[in-house]
Amino acid sequence: MIQFYNTLTKKKEEFTPFNKDFVGIYSCGPTVYNYAHIGNLRSYIFADVLKRVLTYFGYNVKHVMNVTDVGHLTGDDDEGEDKLQKASASSGIDPYEIARHYEKIFFEDLEKLNIILPTVKCRATEHIEDMQKMVAKLLADGFAYETDQAIYFDITKFPTYTQLSGQKLDDKVVGARDEVNEDPQKKHPQDFSIWFKAKGRFANHIMKWPSPWGEGFPGWHIECSAMSIKYLGETFDIHTGGEDHIWVHHPNEIAQSECYTGKKFVRYWLHGAFLVVGKDDSDEEVKMSKSEGNFLRLQTIIDNGFLPVHYRMMCVSSHYRSKLTFTNKSLTAAKNAYENIRDFISRAVQIGGEKPSWVAEYVQKFEDAISDDLNMPVAMAVMNEMIKKAQETKEYNILEELYKFDEVFGLGFKEIAESSASLEDEVQKLIDERKVARKNKDFKRADEIRQELLEKGIVLEDTREGTLWHKV
Ligand code: AMP
Ligand code: ZN
Repeated sequence: MIQFYNTLTKKKEEFTPFNKDFVGIYSCGPTVYNYAHIGNLRSYIFADVLKRVLTYFGYNVKHVMNVTDVGHLTGDDDEGEDKLQKASASSGIDPYEIARHYEKIFFEDLEKLNIILPTVKCRATEHIEDMQKMVAKLLADGFAYETDQAIYFDITKFPTYTQLSGQKLDDKVVGARDEVNEDPQKKHPQDFSIWFKAKGRFANHIMKWPSPWGEGFPGWHIECSAMSIKYLGETFDIHTGGEDHIWVHHPNEIAQSECYTGKKFVRYWLHGAFLVVGKDDSDEEVKMSKSEGNFLRLQTIIDNGFLPVHYRMMCVSSHYRSKLTFTNKSLTAAKNAYENIRDFISRAVQIGGEKPSWVAEYVQKFEDAISDDLNMPVAMAVMNEMIKKAQETKEYNILEELYKFDEVFGLGFKEIAESSASLEDEVQKLIDERKVARKNKDFKRADEIRQELLEKGIVLEDTREGTLWHKV
């Protein structure tokens, strides 16, 4: 039985799919006015683990991710400027060009992190008609109203509006309200725009489309509703996002979708906790945000000498619902932990042997952990225990199980083994030559060989099983 913590019901629930053919997952995608920071990427690693767990248990996953290339304002609730318009105004570059540039880098980052790409990637700007269809119906059915500036969803028409957030309407805290930008014709402060008119503060908006309500552009929330319904159906299984979306974006998606279809929108809401940046030598933490400009990119980590897989290791070792603090120390610890596993795999490939009889017990524990609301810290601990046992018993051939676990971890264990195997011949030749040299007391040549290999990043280790090697 797979269980997920559902933010909607605030409890762990057994997962059962809505339809036989596929499990539908929608993940709110990036707003492509800037690079994704490693916090954003944590949310996508979480969605990736979710997908991999479902796939591990035999489900056919259909994963949809949008690309927000219009309509996301600097304030999540109708305040401020459109993020792309703002980036375009300050750089002088066309917003479409900006969007495509950052979108490309975003998906490259996902690939570097071994994240399985979504089945469907969809851009907001290419689904305007779908959104307009929703806006028109919501208006016609009395769930929305028009002002001089926008079309708003009327939250008083949706009694369960606060179910996801768990907040009362009055004490809904969504950042300081921006009275200047407030539309005087808006009926309730929490009504949200599903369509912005390209006039007033949006008069210079570059990305705009004709509509029955004049030229304008869609609100950010309607994008996710329109695209998820289009590709996954009116009711689908799982919706993911960062925890910040529990208060504004996702309640809005639910309200407009359920009023539009008259059906339940999403069955399981899964939210990932935030990544914060800490300091190695103090408890100080900084919230990372693109708009604050204080963010770390995947490339920053690479420039600091780490591999993307080290960051993935850090994320997949933590629980998606726990805050994760990023420091150089914690990334280094993840790197070391990854390298220990890598060295074990390389050793296991060299030693080979029979598959030990005790592995099944670990597979069971691993499966219990991943099906318990993606308990990856436990799954990681189980894997490490299994490796420890292999080392203690000297029964190294647990590779098949490690590859199985890696279907979920996504750390590239098979590639490690393949690269070890491909180096095997070359390194083995030198190891054999060194053995002969040592036998002949030609320690100079033996040392030369060790040095030669070290320069290639290969360390030799003389063990009871003979001379083994691993990468530095
Ligand atoms: P955005 O590009 O701002 O629309 O955000 C993309 C995704 O990243 C959303 O699911 C956010 O909830 C998530 N997110 C934003 N900041 C963080 C963070 N510091 N840690 C984890 N996820 C985040
Ligand atoms: Zn969304």
